[in-house]
Amino acid sequence: MNQARKIIHIDMDAFYASVEQRDEPRYRGKPLVVGGSPSRRGAVAAASYEARQFGIHSAMPSRTAYQKCPHLIFAKPRFEVYRAISEQIRDIFRRYTDLVEPLALDEAYLDVTENKPGIASATLIAREIQQCIQVETQLTASAGVSINKFLAKIASAMNKPNGLFLIAPQQAEPFIEQLAIERFYGVGQVTAAKMHHLGIFTGADLKQWSEAALVEQFGKVGRFYYKIARGQDDRPVQPNRISKSIGAENSYDPDLSDRAAILTALEEVAETLHRRLESKQASGRTLTLKVKYADYQQITRSKTLTAAIDQLEVILSVAEDLLTLTDVDHQPVRLLGLSLSNLEGESLEAPEYVQLSLALELG
Ligand SMILES: [Mg+2]
Repeated sequence: MNQARKIIHIDMDAFYASVEQRDEPRYRGKPLVVGGSPSRRGAVAAASYEARQFGIHSAMPSRTAYQKCPHLIFAKPRFEVYRAISEQIRDIFRRYTDLVEPLALDEAYLDVTENKPGIASATLIAREIQQCIQVETQLTASAGVSINKFLAKIASAMNKPNGLFLIAPQQAEPFIEQLAIERFYGVGQVTAAKMHHLGIFTGADLKQWSEAALVEQFGKVGRFYYKIARGQDDRPVQPNRISKSIGAENSYDPDLSDRAAILTALEEVAETLHRRLESKQASGRTLTLKVKYADYQQITRSKTLTAAIDQLEVILSVAEDLLTLTDVDHQPVRLLGLSLSNLEGESLEAPEYVQLSLALELG
């Protein structure tokens, strides 16, 4: 048997919004969002804790956010600043381990089972990292500590902001049993609604289901649900994981049948994709649109361009072209997705890292 792993998930608190409040004293203590604007369509990229008290959250259409709080401040994103801070915090992580898997600019998994300072307690390491981040960036982060990625990620969200939460090995199963299904990482709104419909409201409910029954209901991902209901997740922390594509998608319930609603939804998906590209500093040449119709039939339409794209306006215009190649005018839409492949970007194409991970596997 393998010795239990020690995994930390670090997540900066309201990252983009906190950076804007750090750098602009007039923004402090105020409801603020990054991205979007009150007048045009578009979604909120991040919301300050003051804005969250009005029920505003990331990915919310900016018009809705504005309606909830008419004195809301809309700050323009400054990705170059966020990227620089992201490098700062990754340098902090590397003082403890090289097994760092960034998920976005503001969050990462760390495997500290073996760590450079030789500290036995992962909780102590997490606390030290939080302190370093606070001193060196004047920002706060929350940390989750556990035996695998799934549990560490849930733990980091438990005591936000500036929280630290440990799920010890013997606590894992009871913890998951009482957990509401919509708090499971990887269970989105539509899946949660379907689970509720099946009478699955908590981890304990999920655990009643056999693997075969979950696969029958949810497809391949049913296997993942079966394992996480038991606190099992053996995915390794993968430093410098190379993405083949970056995508975003949304499901709709009820289905979308109105052309304007479909275009708005497509714009939101494009914005999410754009944010993910920003956070990975990536661009790509092939854009793929995925459409799932109300009858679950799924189609994709792709276009490969001569040069890599990363700008929201360009992505959206290609996406709208691809939409004309679908049947959305005649069939209600259950899901829209966009992904970019043939990627280019610093953090993606790093052949020395490929060789390194190969060497590790062979060694
Ligand atoms: Mg965060």
